[in-house]
Amino acid sequence: MKLKDSIAELLGRPPRRPEKNEVPEAVIKLHEIKKNDKERIAAIHAELAEMKNKKVPQKWRRRRWATLILVNLLFVISYHFDVQLVEGALTASRVVGFHMADLNSALQVMLAFKHVVINLVIGTTTVFVFWWLLGGRTFCSWVCPYHLLAEWAEMLHLKLASKRIVKDHPFDRRARTWFWLIFVILAFVSGYTVYEFISPTGILSRALIYGPGLALLWVGLLLAFEVFYSRRAWCRYACPIGLTYGFVGALSPLKVEYHLESCFHEGECRKVCLVPHVLDTVIKGRARGMNVELGADCTRCGRCVETCPTSSLTYKFKGLGDLI
Ligand code: SF4
Ligand code: SF4
Repeated sequence: MKLKDSIAELLGRPPRRPEKNEVPEAVIKLHEIKKNDKERIAAIHAELAEMKNKKVPQKWRRRRWATLILVNLLFVISYHFDVQLVEGALTASRVVGFHMADLNSALQVMLAFKHVVINLVIGTTTVFVFWWLLGGRTFCSWVCPYHLLAEWAEMLHLKLASKRIVKDHPFDRRARTWFWLIFVILAFVSGYTVYEFISPTGILSRALIYGPGLALLWVGLLLAFEVFYSRRAWCRYACPIGLTYGFVGALSPLKVEYHLESCFHEGECRKVCLVPHVLDTVIKGRARGMNVELGADCTRCGRCVETCPTSSLTYKFKGLGDLI
């Protein structure tokens, strides 16, 4: 995917159909072959029928949950046993002596205090390189404690939706860009890191380490809103941290890659994805190449990778080939 389209979609622009001149000849030919291949169509129907009785594998989800819990536990254990291996919380910490800072919080702090804090610059640079290598929004699905709770809330939402008790109410994704701008301006004008007061990521990280506080009520409200009204609303339409990490990962070497040749276009991946717009390319006629790297908003969570019945989505680290 072109960088400018990836960034535009990150900022909230809906994915656009490719123009005729953007689709290579090989892709057009492949679609023709797929359309007329009766055996393949029969295989699709058989696969889909079989899938109805199968549970979606959870390999990547289990690895991710284990990593997320472990990272957050490290902060808790370090604080309570004074290990000094990891100090602070997710928003600002020291890891084996290295200053680390969540990029969005660092930005807010510098804007609020209107001067560049040297420790923060060291921490921000370290974290920037780290998350650039790992894909930017990988922070969301592999580290953010709110992501885990929101994923459980989403499971409940989907269960209730399947029984027609609740219904998803999507919002305009551009809202997140506006929120990001509003919090940048608020930090600059007020001199306070205003977003930190309502950030479920920071609230949960601090609550885990230093003990629960009233702010957890806000997190509870957000989760209830996601269960009963709008699926994954905070991460999809509001969280400025997600947008910041999206920018960081836009040119990351770690990607999820789509392979048109083996794809059935049945769309199972889109059903499980937090940001289904990045999977627009799997819709028949939308791919701009035989292999397409997904856009910057992808959290590299691996749900589509483990869900795809034809392994048409894979992790890829540029220069190292496919990871799986
Ligand atoms: S979008 Fe925000 S709240 Fe959601 S997982 Fe990412 S950092 Fe956490
Ligand atoms: S595209 Fe795949 S890896 Fe990326 S967020 Fe969606 S489900 Fe996760």
